[in-house]
Amino acid sequence: MTSDDKTVRVISWRAARIGLQSIAAVGFLSAFVLAQNAPAYVDPQIEAALSQISAGQVQSNIEKLVSFQTRSTISAQDPGSISAGKGIGAAREWIKSEFERYSRDCGGCLEVKADSFIQPVGERIPSPVEITNVYAVLRGTNPEDAKRIVLVTGHYDSRISDPLDQSGVAPGANDDGSGTAVSLECARVLSRLKFPGTIIFLAVAGEEQALYGSEHFAQFAKSQGWQIEAVLNNDIVGGDRSPGQDPKVVRVFSESIPEGASEAQLRMIRALGGENDSASRELARYIVQTSRIYRTEVAPLIEFRRDRYLRGGDHISFNEAGFAAVRLTEFQENYNHQHQNVRTENGTEYGDLPKFVDFDYVANVARVNAAALASLAAAPAPPGDVRLRTKDLENDSTVLWEAPADGRAAGYEVLWRATAAPDWEHAQSVGKVLQATVPVSKDNVIFAVQAVDEAGHRSLAVVPSPEQ
Ligand SMILES: [Zn+2]
Repeated sequence: MTSDDKTVRVISWRAARIGLQSIAAVGFLSAFVLAQNAPAYVDPQIEAALSQISAGQVQSNIEKLVSFQTRSTISAQDPGSISAGKGIGAAREWIKSEFERYSRDCGGCLEVKADSFIQPVGERIPSPVEITNVYAVLRGTNPEDAKRIVLVTGHYDSRISDPLDQSGVAPGANDDGSGTAVSLECARVLSRLKFPGTIIFLAVAGEEQALYGSEHFAQFAKSQGWQIEAVLNNDIVGGDRSPGQDPKVVRVFSESIPEGASEAQLRMIRALGGENDSASRELARYIVQTSRIYRTEVAPLIEFRRDRYLRGGDHISFNEAGFAAVRLTEFQENYNHQHQNVRTENGTEYGDLPKFVDFDYVANVARVNAAALASLAAAPAPPGDVRLRTKDLENDSTVLWEAPADGRAAGYEVLWRATAAPDWEHAQSVGKVLQATVPVSKDNVIFAVQAVDEAGHRSLAVVPSPEQ
């Protein structure tokens, strides 16, 4: 099978016109839509930032992380070990110093922070241990939009065969030096730009012990009322150079039914066929769109599944806190190269070593991330209270919404697709209106609305609720 066969087909913004090319606006606040796809907008600043992402920088970051010998969450973090450059404490201090270096280069534009807590004894925690997440905040420039946060994360802890091993060599180059390197590299290049919205670059620990770091961070964000619009979790994005790998795609996993959906929400999802339209899934579609717009070399391969079969990762902590979150992972994992003691047995090499990582691939995955993060941080807030009119039985469909509070929407687009289609097939600009009527039956399609700013940055798409 070629990678094209495996990639979910997505019709581009320009493609799939369905006839008439004009819209007839019906008053200022309403539009009657006759299907026209809106052109994509390539932001030259975002394009330039993507070109600054460097495979060499990614490689030196991963090699540096490996140099700490182990980044087990329960490894050393005393001052002596930190100054000797060994253990998770040294790794944490180095990540922090990198964020601080990027911040100095942009005139102090990043707020570099640590989120530390004591994790009590558990199955993989033999004695209480301090776990520290490190993050950098690129605060948005527009006061209203700055409340909106997009976040990229990877876990900097590592492990070998025995998750309780505190000192054995645990290089974790791919799992998850690669994801940590993506957070760092996105911070390095995007901190040179200014965005209306806020971007957080995060590196968590405790993942291999039971997602402790991400759980703490996500629950903290929830308790603070942070408005996190999107979480991109990169875990095992090293593009392991083994037979069967496809270096042209990165899998993007997203949940179907939102974790924590209420009984009423579940009833609505069942009634409307909403199983494929969680906020996390709209985020996955958004990542596909931005990768197409910026022509990234690695293409997102949408997986309609929360994570790999029966497995999990840090994005689930964010889903559980009610946030839209997806996981990016290489196409095919090599299990000899993760969670293994470094060794050779019968000629087979085991261990998560840098030599198995494809640094160009990691850089390309960083570009997929940066394109989505920058586009979201540049975009206006999504439209509010999106509804689909249902009071009369009719074959046209009318969608209504509220203008987002940031006042930056210069117009809106109504999206729709056949119920069986994986991604949006039509995107119709309707201008600066608050409702639009489409000559398509709501029985046969799924609708969404997104806001567009003056330049052409698009918000996340919001699926309507029925207006009853
Ligand atoms: Zn991992």
